[in-house]
Amino acid sequence: NGASSSSSKKAEWEWEKGQPVPYAALAHSFSAIEATTKRLEIQALLSELLTKVIERASKPEEVTQVVYLCINRLCPDYIGMELGLGEGLIVKALAQSFGREVSKIKKDLEQKGDLGLVALASRAKQPTMFAGKALTVPGVFSTLKEIATLSGNKSQERKLGLIKKLLAACKGEETKWIIRSLEGKLRIGLAERTVLVSLAQSAVNHRIGSKKHKMSAEDLSAELEKGTSLLKAVYSEMPNYDRIIPALIETGPEGLRKSCQLTPGIPLKPMLAKPTKAITEVLDRFEGKAFTCEYKYDGERAQVHFYVPGEAKAIEGEDAAPTTTVEAPGGSSGKKGKLGVFSRNSEDMSVKYPDLLESIPNFVKPSTKSFVLDAEVTAWKKAEMDEQGNVTDAGGLLPFQQLSTRKRKGVELDKIAVRVKLFAFDLLYINGESLLHEDLATRRAKLREHFQPVENEFDFATSQDCNTVEEIQTFLDASVADRCEGLMVKMLQGEDAFYEPSRRSMNWLKLKKDYLSGTGDSLDLVVIGGYYGKGKRTHVYGAFLLGCWDADSESFQSVCKIGTGFSEANLEAFTAQLKPLELTVKKGYYDVGGAAPDVFFEPKIVWEVLTADLSLSPVYTAAKGAVESRGISLRFPRFIRIREDKDAEDSTSPEQIADMYRAQASAAKGSKGGGGGG
Ligand code: ATP
Repeated sequence: NGASSSSSKKAEWEWEKGQPVPYAALAHSFSAIEATTKRLEIQALLSELLTKVIERASKPEEVTQVVYLCINRLCPDYIGMELGLGEGLIVKALAQSFGREVSKIKKDLEQKGDLGLVALASRAKQPTMFAGKALTVPGVFSTLKEIATLSGNKSQERKLGLIKKLLAACKGEETKWIIRSLEGKLRIGLAERTVLVSLAQSAVNHRIGSKKHKMSAEDLSAELEKGTSLLKAVYSEMPNYDRIIPALIETGPEGLRKSCQLTPGIPLKPMLAKPTKAITEVLDRFEGKAFTCEYKYDGERAQVHFYVPGEAKAIEGEDAAPTTTVEAPGGSSGKKGKLGVFSRNSEDMSVKYPDLLESIPNFVKPSTKSFVLDAEVTAWKKAEMDEQGNVTDAGGLLPFQQLSTRKRKGVELDKIAVRVKLFAFDLLYINGESLLHEDLATRRAKLREHFQPVENEFDFATSQDCNTVEEIQTFLDASVADRCEGLMVKMLQGEDAFYEPSRRSMNWLKLKKDYLSGTGDSLDLVVIGGYYGKGKRTHVYGAFLLGCWDADSESFQSVCKIGTGFSEANLEAFTAQLKPLELTVKKGYYDVGGAAPDVFFEPKIVWEVLTADLSLSPVYTAAKGAVESRGISLRFPRFIRIREDKDAEDSTSPEQIADMYRAQASAAKGSKGGGGGG
């Protein structure tokens, strides 16, 4: 309807080549994307925007900024700079910017369920508001970055000031998108993989340019597909848009393989395993192929990076992950090296494991100049002896619960109560070379060549190449006796045994003792709502609503209510942790069906739960449409532990839940008439 502007006047979302990208261009595309739910349309709209930005941007950085704004990030995720401002601060900013009372804004929020819409409506009530210079992508990006990094004294006030400045310059729909970016959720169905596909397509289009018209449709689509799969592969090795995008624009996807590879100092997304329910299932998958079994340690995943700055291929720049400077061991002795330990989620763990950091140089052989290790940190007890030298306590692995008593930050070396030992199961990079495209047999040989066990500090994962059900069963029993969770079974030779970053692969199977006792794999679910307790328990939540993240619809689906088996102390502690996360209203990203908790929470806390079995449900929405139109829920869910190493978006996916349901259904079918019992 806004077509009244004269034809000579450019729309505010258009711009000249070489000028900074107007924020209006981004807002315009977001609104168009929001108006459709069709994945291909979304992809096309985003490709259109990115192609324009690539062609017109004065600097490749602007393309990177647009991509970051599309996925609600400001830098690579391992840097740990996040938006996601609390509701309170945004409400305050809206009240002050638009001269409204906080209570009125809250009331609007209750009605609309979305602060972006509240902001838009508040803005519309002020038609006379003077809008200053138009916002640009680089301008908005740097302000958001400033907001995310402010800390300490008066930081809340300074954040408030910056938000108000942004709001004052917003026009039309921009208001809504700025607010949603500040909240850290755009909610327009832009999963990161859609962004990757669109980015690849725009880069290919840009390279082909005017030649496009001479190409056949088949050739063009083959080019697009090749570009997309190259970009995805490169991104999983080097999850860093600041490096990938400029290279992508300069060389196209084909050139990326050379310039962007696994690099120490940039944590990659770890390879993940598929669950199996029975040893026979393992053999169905691996029989006739070379495979190996390893102990599955019950600790925390740790990716260890080491490099010497200045040496060939060593990373430099602000986007290197946080590391600690250490005396370089082995081959580079005399120099200073950079050592980093990262979680499954690429979080810096040096603040949690300073003892580990101190011991790592001890197990590196002199031949080692740079490396990336994949390993598990476990809680460990040293053997104890009496004065005569008799062993009084054999020591060994301690349960995960012991490890979880450790603080997440600021651990002091001399106050450590539970010590840790690292078990390495893979080597991904050594002395300047990536090993991702070598098979596990080769990677394991190199691991043993360049590292050495150190008593009570480091060892290689215990492994055995088994071939029969009996051998696997015996090794599984041994792993449990040694206090492990079970086994990891891995392809050993050939292309199927390459390391697959970020993939949940059939080439790694997990065989946990729990599965065999019939409980199945655990699920990691987000605590999305709470129910107040009854009777004596009204001051705490007595039950919780759990959900899973659906990346396709960018929403949290409900899975089950969990409320039994918690101790009084549990409930007190959970309440203390969750109370500050209470939301005024159910947010638009909650797609919970008939589940109606008393309060919704910001989706931040992930719990691991076990279940007796999965069932179809008319109330819960998880994986609805995947197996049936109904959702899938858990029967008798049981709390296991808090998963501090997982974000809400790493919760068990609807696809995984559907897979579990199908596996259970086919097992039930298989056992019908088969005796059962026990
Ligand atoms: P997800 O499968 O979603 O990663 P999770 O984090 O709960 O779930 P698990 O199901 O416990 O992971 O299984 C994989 C994890 O097991 C790895 O991430 C790693 O931390 C741990 N692990 C322990 N021993 C090994 C091993 N030998 N090889 C690979 N991983 C191991």
